[in-house]
Amino acid sequence: MARQLLLGCIADDFTGATDLANNLVRAGMQVVQSIGVPAAPVANVDAVVVALKSRTVPAAQAVEQSLAALRWLQSQGCGQFYFKVCSTFDSTPAGNIGSVAEALLAALGADFCCVTPAFPENARTVYQGYLFVGDVLLDESGMRNHPLTPMTDPSLVRVLQAQSRGKVGLVAHAVVRAGSEAIRARIAQLRGEGVRLAIVDAVANEDLMALGRALADAKLVVAGSGVAIGLPQNHGLAPSPAAAALPPAHGLQAIVSGSCSQATQAQVKDFIAAGGAAYPLDALQLVADREAVVDAVLAWAQPRLAQGPVLVYSTAAPDAVQAVQQRLGAHDAGALVEEALAAIGRGLVTLGVRQLVVAGGETSGAVVQALGVRQLRIGRQIDPGVPWCFAQATACDADLHLALKSGNFGTPDFFRKSFGLLA
Ligand code: ADP
Repeated sequence: MARQLLLGCIADDFTGATDLANNLVRAGMQVVQSIGVPAAPVANVDAVVVALKSRTVPAAQAVEQSLAALRWLQSQGCGQFYFKVCSTFDSTPAGNIGSVAEALLAALGADFCCVTPAFPENARTVYQGYLFVGDVLLDESGMRNHPLTPMTDPSLVRVLQAQSRGKVGLVAHAVVRAGSEAIRARIAQLRGEGVRLAIVDAVANEDLMALGRALADAKLVVAGSGVAIGLPQNHGLAPSPAAAALPPAHGLQAIVSGSCSQATQAQVKDFIAAGGAAYPLDALQLVADREAVVDAVLAWAQPRLAQGPVLVYSTAAPDAVQAVQQRLGAHDAGALVEEALAAIGRGLVTLGVRQLVVAGGETSGAVVQALGVRQLRIGRQIDPGVPWCFAQATACDADLHLALKSGNFGTPDFFRKSFGLLA
């Protein structure tokens, strides 16, 4: 008999989707992440995470995309739904967390849901409805100056109320600490008072486990990736290596890095210092003839791939990136480098690479698109937030293992150690 799909997830961005999928796998679920709404059924998994790009689009579009994902997940028989939002609650008074949550509730015929971005393992905690990032309140963190969604109010009750029609309430930590029965009682009380959405405090994993148990019958959960660790237990699932099992790895190994984040810079340095074969991509050279540069990189890589993983990187220090941006404009420079790295990633797969690490969130999006990857089966975690995945690259007619690392994730030896985990 086909396995019943237990949880249907809708994520408002790509790396957020991977973060959620990774947590579900760690807690014992078998998970596929889909880029956009899948075109066909997904067999033999416990959860599907549909990755949208709806975090900063106009609220009406976010609602429309999310409802399309919901309809597909409902058609697959999911009984519970998870709307994954950013762990720093990235949103504006126009949406999209409140507007999407309320639209999903209405579509599900439900009248209440819990909302929390808490993920203590990742230093996101919520207390009395206030979100802390590390040891400072949200509005004192770097999020204050975010270019698209500046977060200037740490009170999530206020922030959510500004973008919701229904009443917003709070399940405070004293209740959460008292356990799942107390949380259920508080939810019943809030519903009786006409509250539609409730921020839930959590400062430790055990809070998320208690919340998870309390939400066993909830139709909808709105959360960062943290609550995911508390839901699989409701289905008798527990952490196990089987949840993260992927087909055996084979083929050649490569790394493509377009991230200029500090962590990635250290990873590139570490790989080169250890004697790894590395090709620095010159962003300015791409302007003259992108195809010639891509061909030169692939010609360099081909004879080296048999000896071990090769690295192609545009990763550069801030002053070098700024110089390029001044010449080309930040947007055009980024797009040019992304397109080149995507073409290189695809070329490497054509040369036989079947284990590919990509560094950079935007870079990962570009590479995945160039490879024609639509679904990722989520495997073992390399470092927090970065699992190995298995995917079909429809553009190259190949199956491969992929690790998509967003900027600041991973230890300095990330590039060297990742392939060892597949062996
Ligand atoms: P991260 O996850 O670290 O933010 P991203 O891939 O999301 O990494 O973003 C990095 C951006 O910087 C991409 O648009 C990429 O094309 C661009 N970029 C990478 N290297 C360079 C470079 N040397 N000069 C200018 N822009 C670059």
